[in-house]
Amino acid sequence: MTRSPLDLDQETMRRLGHRVADIVAEHLATIRDEPVIASVPRHELGHALARPAPRAGVDFEQLVSTLQQSVFPFHAREPHPGFLAYVPSCPTFPAVLGDWIAAGYNFFAGVWPVAAGPNELEVVVLEWFREWMGMPAGSGGILTSGGSGANLTAFVAARHAAVDAGADLSKLTVYTSGQAHSSVTRAAWIAGIPRDNVRTIGMDDRYRMITDDLERAVESDRAAGLSPFIVVASAGTTNTGSVDPLHDIADFCVGAKLWLHVDAAYAGFAALTPEGKRLLSGLERADSLTLDPHKWLFVPFECGCLLVRDPATLTAAFRIMPEYLKDVQPGEEEVNFADRGEQLTRYSRALKVWLSVNYFGTEAIAGAIEQAMDRARLLEELVRASADFEILSPAQFGIVCFRARPRNVSDSTDLNALNERINARVVAEGRFLISSTRLRGAFSLRMCTLGFRTTMEDIRQLFAAIERALAAEQ
Ligand SMILES: *Cc1c(COP(=O)(O)O)cnc(C)c1O
Repeated sequence: MTRSPLDLDQETMRRLGHRVADIVAEHLATIRDEPVIASVPRHELGHALARPAPRAGVDFEQLVSTLQQSVFPFHAREPHPGFLAYVPSCPTFPAVLGDWIAAGYNFFAGVWPVAAGPNELEVVVLEWFREWMGMPAGSGGILTSGGSGANLTAFVAARHAAVDAGADLSKLTVYTSGQAHSSVTRAAWIAGIPRDNVRTIGMDDRYRMITDDLERAVESDRAAGLSPFIVVASAGTTNTGSVDPLHDIADFCVGAKLWLHVDAAYAGFAALTPEGKRLLSGLERADSLTLDPHKWLFVPFECGCLLVRDPATLTAAFRIMPEYLKDVQPGEEEVNFADRGEQLTRYSRALKVWLSVNYFGTEAIAGAIEQAMDRARLLEELVRASADFEILSPAQFGIVCFRARPRNVSDSTDLNALNERINARVVAEGRFLISSTRLRGAFSLRMCTLGFRTTMEDIRQLFAAIERALAAEQ
């Protein structure tokens, strides 16, 4: 029997696999010693990488060495203890292995009959999430590419329900707050909602949607002959961690017959902790709920989740049965995930979640979430204890926003420019990657403390680095 040259023998596969496992293990074990970010202009990289695909294969070691020289050094290390920018994604190693297994087996997680085992894992994981969030039994959903994919899937389902009930697509209107994630507006766009029909509702001084303003906006649109159909509330905004008044908004949506989508991509998994559960109370009343396991559930990228109160709303919007798929109808209790979203061919995202959560148990994961919230609180204390800084948004779900406002500041000082330079100085030191945002026009330093490698001592050193940066400016 001659084997295909693409079909490696077992010994070779083991050898290459071990090599990769060693590289990744060493990377993660020594990540603290690496710079948190390094970049390079494209023209410098071009020489090393921009080559035509070779006609004949290249030795694996040589490829590894190219990666080590020209690829691995040049990226922001998300799982680094000094990565406090944006939303750090810090996957556990079992979760990384879950992705490897999913790729190694190449399960087709689109339809039940061809991958019952992996599909059952997804059902199980979704059921865990449903229970953690406190949604009613019978709710279900789908794992998606991320929070953006989950928000889009929710929009398509809600739009379909509205149009099916007789609404005119061009008249559908959407309500969200100015602090909602950009993917919410983009989901509305992709779902075909006219761009002028996305309403931005006012916020209170803690960046929470004002329910009275929401009610007024819906009333006035209805009076103008438009068709309000969905309200998107944030349960932990990406900017500040603020939670919209979920119970008030849910009460209003019930009365006004509006679909309530809650975007909990950022903070949802904090519901595993008693504090998070209390702060997120009301999210279980959503018609649809976005979560993002690749943020606070510590799995690698490409794992979001949409939960819906009534899974039939998803199948109504997405199910289509072409001739060539007639043999893969699911049984009654079974799920074809391809009927719940836009992907037919999809890999098993559930595997990494299942492996990591089982490996550590929910207690350890909840503990890591609690510690992230403690780190942000410590940072807030350090800021408040200094006469040269002021809090712009207090610690909420591991996010703190603040800025330098030196005690001897003169009226002519441009605080925005000063803080922008502080941000740049801290990043240039190479130890910490922080990022910024604007809150009511003010440039704000913003730190997000989710990564489980970050310690309390790191937070103290981070604040010392920020103080150093301010001193260098004076
Ligand atoms: C991150 C985030 C999203 C988008 O999720 P992706 O996984 O980046 O696609 C949506 N909403 C909120 C609140 C987020 O924090």
